[in-house]
Amino acid sequence: MSRDTITLIEQSGCDQHVAPFTKPHMEGFENPDRITMTLQYLEENNALDGILKFKTPIANCEEALLVHSPYLVHSVEIMSELGSGQLGESAYASENLLSTALHALGGAMFAAELAASDSCRHSFALVRPPGHHATTSSSMGLCFFNNVAVATRKLLKDEEVKKVTILDIDDHFGNGTAEIFYDDPSVQFISIHEYNHDSFGLGHFRELGQGEAKGTNINVPLYEESPDASYQTAFTKVVKPAIESFNPDIIAVSAGYDAHFTDPIGDLNIDSRTYWFIANEIERLVSSLSMKGSFWVLEGGYNPLVLGPCVQATLDGLQKRPLPQLADQEERDDDDTILRANTNVINKIVKTVSPFL
Ligand SMILES: [Zn+2]
Repeated sequence: MSRDTITLIEQSGCDQHVAPFTKPHMEGFENPDRITMTLQYLEENNALDGILKFKTPIANCEEALLVHSPYLVHSVEIMSELGSGQLGESAYASENLLSTALHALGGAMFAAELAASDSCRHSFALVRPPGHHATTSSSMGLCFFNNVAVATRKLLKDEEVKKVTILDIDDHFGNGTAEIFYDDPSVQFISIHEYNHDSFGLGHFRELGQGEAKGTNINVPLYEESPDASYQTAFTKVVKPAIESFNPDIIAVSAGYDAHFTDPIGDLNIDSRTYWFIANEIERLVSSLSMKGSFWVLEGGYNPLVLGPCVQATLDGLQKRPLPQLADQEERDDDDTILRANTNVINKIVKTVSPFL
C-alpha cells in the first residue's frame, strides 16, 4: 500500500439483516441487493482495477458508545435478541440487526483509519444499514448506529486528527450527524439535501451550530427535482469555500446515492456525472489543502441498478480518471423555475454562512 492507494471495504454478512417488510414498502428498499448488486456491477465493469479490497471488521458495542447513549445501544442488542421490534420511526429490528450494524460500523471505522494513515489516500466503505439519521439517543429512518459519526469520533481521539469535515450528499438531511456535532467546533458538518418538511429534522440553512461551533453546521437545502446544475453550483459556491476555510485534516463523506433521478425514495434529479464531479472536487481539495485523505461511507441509495454506476463514478473521480460515460446518464430537461429558485436559495446561504468563513 502507498500514499496514493484507494481502498474499498466490502461488508461481510450484508445479507443478514432484512427489515420485516417486502417491497415496495420503504423499509424493503434498504435490502442486501444494494451491496451485492453494486459489487457485482463493479466487478463486471472492471471498476475495481487498481483498488485494494478488504472485508469489514466487526466493531463492538463499546465503540458505538463513543457517540450513542447506552440506552440506544442496549435497545439494539435487546431487539436483535428478540428478533423483531420497532426501535424508532422506520427503524425495525431483525435477529441479525446487531451483527449487520456492527459490521457496517466496523467498515466505516476501518475506512476512516485507512484514510488517516500514510498508506491510503481515499477509502470507501460499501456497507449497510445506513447511519446518518441516527442521533445520539434515537435510531430512525433505516439507521441504527451513526457509522460516520462514530468513525469521526474515533479519529478525533487520535491526536493526529484535530479537525474533520463531514460532507453529507445523501438526498435527505443528515439530522443525526448534525445533532451529534452541533456544538463540536472540531467537526464541520455540511449537508446538501432535498428540503422536505416530511423528513427527519429541518435542515434549514439558518441552523448554524451552537456556541464555539457556530458556523460549523452548514445546510444546503435544494428544491425537489433539483438537477445536476443546481447541485454542482451549490458545491462550488458553498461547500468548497467552506471546506477551504475550515481546513480539515480529513474529509468524511456520508455517501448516499438517493439523490439520483431514478431513486424510489429520494426526489432530486441528478445522475452519476454529479457523483464523479463531487469525488473529483474532493480529491482536488485533499491535494490543495494537504489533507490526509477522505473516507466515504454508503448511506442511502435505493435503486440497486444505479448504485453500481454511481459508486464507479465516485471511484473514478477519486482516482483522477476522466468522467466515465455510464448508462444512467440520460439527458433530462432542466426546469428553469427550479434552477432560478435554487440560485436564490444558494445566494442566501452564501450570505448567511460567509461571516463564519
Ligand atoms: Zn436518504
